[in-house]
Amino acid sequence: MSTVSSVTSAADNSLVIHTRGLTKTYKDVNALQNLNLQVRRNSICGFLGPNGAGKSTTIKLLLGLIRPMSGSANVFGLDSVRESITIRQRVGYLAQDPRYYDHNTARETLRFTARFFFSGPNQLIEKRIAETLELVGLSDNADRPIKGFSGGERQRLGIAQAQLNYPDLLILDEPAASLDPMGRRDVLEVMERLRKHTTIFYSTHILEDVQRVSDTVAILNKGQLVAQAPIEELIAGKDGIVYSMTVTGDGKCAQARIAAQPWVTAVALHAQDAATNLQIRVTDEKAAQAQLLRLALVDEDATVTAFGRKKYNLEEVFLGIVEGGKEHDNGN
Ligand code: ADP
Repeated sequence: MSTVSSVTSAADNSLVIHTRGLTKTYKDVNALQNLNLQVRRNSICGFLGPNGAGKSTTIKLLLGLIRPMSGSANVFGLDSVRESITIRQRVGYLAQDPRYYDHNTARETLRFTARFFFSGPNQLIEKRIAETLELVGLSDNADRPIKGFSGGERQRLGIAQAQLNYPDLLILDEPAASLDPMGRRDVLEVMERLRKHTTIFYSTHILEDVQRVSDTVAILNKGQLVAQAPIEELIAGKDGIVYSMTVTGDGKCAQARIAAQPWVTAVALHAQDAATNLQIRVTDEKAAQAQLLRLALVDEDATVTAFGRKKYNLEEVFLGIVEGGKEHDNGN
C-alpha cells in the first residue's frame, strides 16, 4: 500500500499547517521526531495515533505553547515560535476535557468567551452567539446551567467557543474520546457541518471516527509520522482498485471474459461451496462499474450474489502500518 502522501510539497498558501523536521524531547522521552506534516485549507484532517504517540505535543507546538528542540512549524505561513500570538488569534482550539463554570448557562459561557476572543463589533455579539449555538445544535439548551449537560453537549459547547471568532483553523484535541455513542455521533455531525466554514485538524485514537468524518489522515506512532494521505487513498489499499464479485457455479467463463478486457489487469478465483468469488483488479473504475456485472451475466444461468469495490477499513490499514513499524512520509 502506498502511504506516501499525494499532498504536494508546494510552499503555497493552500497549506494551513506545514511542519518541517519538527522534533520535541522531554528529558529522555522522544515525544516527536522529525515530523513533516501538511494540512490543506478546507480539509478535515484526522490526526490519528495511540495514546502517547505525540499528538498533544504536536498541537501544543503548533499553537506555540511549547518550543521545539529542532525543526519548525508554520500555521497560515506564520512561525509557531515567533508569531504564536497571531496564530492563536486565528485558531479556534478545543483542549481535551474543557472546563466550565457549571452554574453558568451555555449562552453566558459564550458571552464570557466573546469578551476575550470576539473581534467583531459589540452589537453583533448576541447574534454571533445565537448563530454559533445553532451551528452546534445547542439552541434549545442555551439557557440551562451547564451542570446538567451531557458529555456530548459539553464538547459541543467547547466547539462553539472555539468557533465563535470565525477561526481560519479549528484544532480539536480528542473531541469525541470520552463520549457515549450518541454524544460521539452528535460531535461528529457538528464537525461535518463546520467543515463548510473552516479547516479542521483534530486528534483522535478512534479509527472509526477518522473514517467517518475526515478527508485526509495523518498517522502518528511513537513520535513518528507513519502515513499521511487522503483517506480514500489509504483505504483503497496497496493493490489499487479491486472489485469483488461472487457468482454461482465455477465462474471460469466469467473469469475468461472479464480477463480479456483491456482495463482488467488480473482476475483471481476462490471457490466457495456452490459459488465462486472473483477478485478483479482494474485500471479504469468507470469501465469496471459499467461493464463488470454485464460481463458476468452473459451466461444465461449465471447469478451474481455479491458485487462491490473492495475497500480496506482503516483499522486494517492502521494495524498494517503500525505493526510494520515503517516510516512513510512525504520527505519534505
Ligand atoms: P498523545 O497526545 O498522542 O497521547 P503526548 O503528546 O501527550 O501523546 O505524549 C507523547 C509522549 O511524550 C508520551 O510518552 C508522554 O508521556 C510524553 N510527554 C508528554 N508531555 C510530557 C511532559 N510534559 N513531560 C514529560 N513527558 C511528556
